[in-house]
Amino acid sequence: MDLATRVAIVTGSGRGIGRAIALKLAQAGAAVVVNDIGDAKPPEAVVKEIKAMGKEAVAVMADVSSASDVARLVEKTLAAYKRVDILVNNAGVNRDQLLLRMSEEDWDKVLAVDLKSVFLCTKAVVRHMAKQHWGRIISLSSVVGIVGNKGQANYAAAKAGIIGFTRAIAKEVASHGVTVNAIAPGFIDTEMTRGLKEEWRRELKKIIPVGEFGSPRDVAEAVAFLASEEAQYITGQILGVDGGMAASWL
Ligand code: NAP
Repeated sequence: MDLATRVAIVTGSGRGIGRAIALKLAQAGAAVVVNDIGDAKPPEAVVKEIKAMGKEAVAVMADVSSASDVARLVEKTLAAYKRVDILVNNAGVNRDQLLLRMSEEDWDKVLAVDLKSVFLCTKAVVRHMAKQHWGRIISLSSVVGIVGNKGQANYAAAKAGIIGFTRAIAKEVASHGVTVNAIAPGFIDTEMTRGLKEEWRRELKKIIPVGEFGSPRDVAEAVAFLASEEAQYITGQILGVDGGMAASWL
């Protein structure tokens, strides 16, 4: 897989799955724009890791749920590299609570960061991709957006929204050389899932056919494939990276 000459924006890539995706795309040769909101870890640390590999990267701190921040993110990408070929909509948050206890604020926050951001970022790059007749848009949905999960109505709605968005935009831009796909991870070992109680983790492992949580690397490999030349005829797809979880329910 060769992504040399490609320029990728990976949102929320200061840690977790996004970091693994940024490292993988850089390893495959792409110049990577490492975006993060900077709440937990600044994106510069990932840029350092990429540069230590002898590859190219810049950090852009931006809130992807804000239209003006997204415009700045894309402007900085174009200023640094003159083009954008790959967008990975990875940034996400969860605010879990049973519906009757879920606040409007927690609903709005998750819908803004997990779904509105996908609309804003995709809209901001798609014209550039269509002009160059080459583009890859890959968004992080979730197994929860397919089968639901109690305590995650906001997150499930946002992740299901990504699936509808992906299929709609895939049809809009297919004739312009731009593919649009989503990944639906199951439970992946990151800070987002590390907060789960040990007892709950043990229970979850029982319903994962392969019996283990996935790693950020598992997701990154799938993203790199969808970003590649070789995946040119794949669009409008939702690829599960979930150790068989969705297959065992649907
Ligand atoms: P994570 O460890 O919590 O990392 C999330 C990243 O998103 C962080 O770098 C965070 O920045 C960034 N971020 C949050 N709000 C942002 C904003 N408004 N603008 C820009 N960046 C923002 O999450 P993860 O587990 O790696 O998950 C990555 C993606 O995969 C998410 O979309 C998640 O929903 C999805 N997913 C994860 C799992 C799983 O099991 N882990 C399963 C299915 C789907 P800070 O570090 O500054 O806070």
